[in-house]
Amino acid sequence: MPAQKEKANGQILLQVENLSTVFPLRRGMVKAVQNLSLELREGQILGVVGESGSGKSVTMLSILRLVPHPGRIVSGRVLYRGRNLLELSEREMRSIRGREIAMIFQDPMTTLNPAFRIGEQIAESLRIHGMLPNSRLPGFLDRKRKEAERRRVIELLEEVGIPIPEESRKRYPHEFSGGMQQRALIAIALACRPKVLLADEPTTALDVTIQAQIMDLLRKINREHGTGIILVTHDLGLAAE
Ligand code: ADP
Ligand code: MG
Repeated sequence: MPAQKEKANGQILLQVENLSTVFPLRRGMVKAVQNLSLELREGQILGVVGESGSGKSVTMLSILRLVPHPGRIVSGRVLYRGRNLLELSEREMRSIRGREIAMIFQDPMTTLNPAFRIGEQIAESLRIHGMLPNSRLPGFLDRKRKEAERRRVIELLEEVGIPIPEESRKRYPHEFSGGMQQRALIAIALACRPKVLLADEPTTALDVTIQAQIMDLLRKINREHGTGIILVTHDLGLAAE
């Protein structure tokens, strides 16, 4: 699984060193990731390319310590701004996920909740991570808080290029096209202004023109906020670009 650098300027955000993750199964052991190392800097987009089954998704899940049972990380270090994430408590890890390092997946419908409006799901992400002003003050500020929340949701929808944000925020996921769903998911990921975005084949489920638009959006986010992005793909053309 070769990793390829697109550009680098800032300081190192994420350093994965000799990471190995396995799945002990009844009949033997699947070595999903073997001695993988990579480095991501501020403002960089790092393409991770490899054929299907080569361990790309497990690598991303390992970084966030979300490898599903019975999988486990057996060696290596995952340094985020110098701290080894593999040594943090689960509680400390929860403050890293979403807030510092966010992830977007291949199929937006598996991550969006079909039962809630798009705007509500973005607001939820803001609330969970305490990203709104006064969000910890008592109830008399509820109206102000709601208003701040609404404004921030609209801002995020605008940022990811979802048209008519005031209307769109009230839509349910199934009322969106695949491309718009992926944009909504990116808005949720961006809600906490993460320093690192792990994008696991974010355009694979989309058709080619929409793919290009999502790539443009990721580049814009990278450029405007300096967000470090790991872009996982099995598409060599996309990685080269
Ligand atoms: P990629 O994303 O590059 O297509 P994955 O990271 O999903 O590949 O998978 C890497 C390897 O780990 C594969 O051999 C896959 O079968 C195995 N694997 C992934 N998830 C699990 C799991 N939950 N249980 C058992 N094996 C798994
Ligand atoms: Mg995968």
